[in-house]
Amino acid sequence: MKAVIIGAGIGGLTTALVLAHYGIDYEIFDAAPANLPVGAGMLMGANAMNVLEKLDMAAPLRQRAVFPESIYIKDYRGEILQHISNTEVRDRYGNGSYAVHRAAVQDELIKGLKKPVQWGKKLTAIEEHENGVTARFEDGSSTAGDLLIGVDGIRSLVREKYIAPAQYRYSGQICWRAIVPMTLPPEEINTTAEVWGPGNGLRASFVQVDPQQVYFWYTKKLPAGTPFEPQEALDMIRRDLLPFKGYMQTVVRHIPVEKLIRSDLYDIAPAHTWYRGRIVLLGDAAHATTPNLGQGASQAVEDAWVLAGCLATESSITAAFQAYQDKRIARAHKIVNTSWSLAMLTNRKGRFITWLRNRLLKSVPRRIADKQIAFLFGIRW
Ligand SMILES: Cc1cc2nc3c(=O)[nH]c(=O)nc-3n(C[C@H](O)[C@H](O)[C@H](O)COP(=O)(O)OP(=O)(O)OC[C@H]3O[C@@H](n4cnc5c(N)ncnc54)[C@H](O)[C@@H]3O)c2cc1C
Repeated sequence: MKAVIIGAGIGGLTTALVLAHYGIDYEIFDAAPANLPVGAGMLMGANAMNVLEKLDMAAPLRQRAVFPESIYIKDYRGEILQHISNTEVRDRYGNGSYAVHRAAVQDELIKGLKKPVQWGKKLTAIEEHENGVTARFEDGSSTAGDLLIGVDGIRSLVREKYIAPAQYRYSGQICWRAIVPMTLPPEEINTTAEVWGPGNGLRASFVQVDPQQVYFWYTKKLPAGTPFEPQEALDMIRRDLLPFKGYMQTVVRHIPVEKLIRSDLYDIAPAHTWYRGRIVLLGDAAHATTPNLGQGASQAVEDAWVLAGCLATESSITAAFQAYQDKRIARAHKIVNTSWSLAMLTNRKGRFITWLRNRLLKSVPRRIADKQIAFLFGIRW
């Protein structure tokens, strides 16, 4: 059996690794001209780390990452609203969540591949035959396989043309991210906090991702597509974060304007068909989520493990695709919906509403919070 993988992001690369783990042949293609060090930082969830452990990829990743012992949600005046002990998560579930530069994740996954990524290959069409599929690329080349896995991201061509068009939902928020060249003081290095402002989607966070680099992000409720020059955006960020207590001011002062990356935050409304014939979706292409739970890439990693396992054990490609969808869809959709609700919650504004929001968050009983943590990180595939 040979799989054609379209997309070499975290989802596609992990799929290639898991297929090889099960002895399934693959080719992997990406439209980008090369492995460019794109993106900023991210949290790789404990659930994804546990999958990467099975592929011997967790140890090299830990070498390039930082382990924050505590992860908080705080109010901008410094009040703790929620706390996750990442150390307890690690003790309980085998791994904690790691803060890491996205490019470091890409590099390590690429190093683990048996067959290299074929860069500069933009998929333009797929032909399905009785016994297989042919993928056609913009440069005139093509390749054949028994099945095709579309891991081509939220704007997936595979999904839009060959499965079913998605309903994109704008969360109301624009996000700016940056890698800041600095080292946090010791008291800041072992923790991270998502800091909630006084409503209107205003949030910010920073975390050390390696000895010399800090990942910073900020969100605000704004109409999609609002034009901003980078310097204008940075001035707004600095202004908006002035009331934020603690080390935030120092981090914000060090942001190089040319490092700002903007994303208007969309997800796709939960879709109930992830495959058709010999074509299947994985990662953001299947279930793109807003980043409020920091789970998008981690869910793609889970998908990869489950899909390859189903291909290795089920009697046919159709049975494997159906089993994969059955195992994954409810969990992926719950994450999309929970993350969406969090975006809506932070979009509210007004002093009373934000006071109430904070009180509600602060009073979530421990057992409910633990249940949520177990749901996110305690999964065993
Ligand atoms: C602001 C922000 C913060 C986030 N933070 C986190 C976080 O902390 N933790 C986390 O787990 N997730 C996070 N995410 C989500 C995460 O980035 C995505 O869920 C994850 O990258 C999805 O991986 P993927 O492989 O499915 O898709 P992608 O990473 O989008 O990869 C798709 C690949 O397909 C290629 N491609 C596209 N079209 C074609 C084509 N026609 N032909 C060939 N190749 C093609 C692209 O070049 C790309 O390399 C965040 C997202 C955002 C926007």
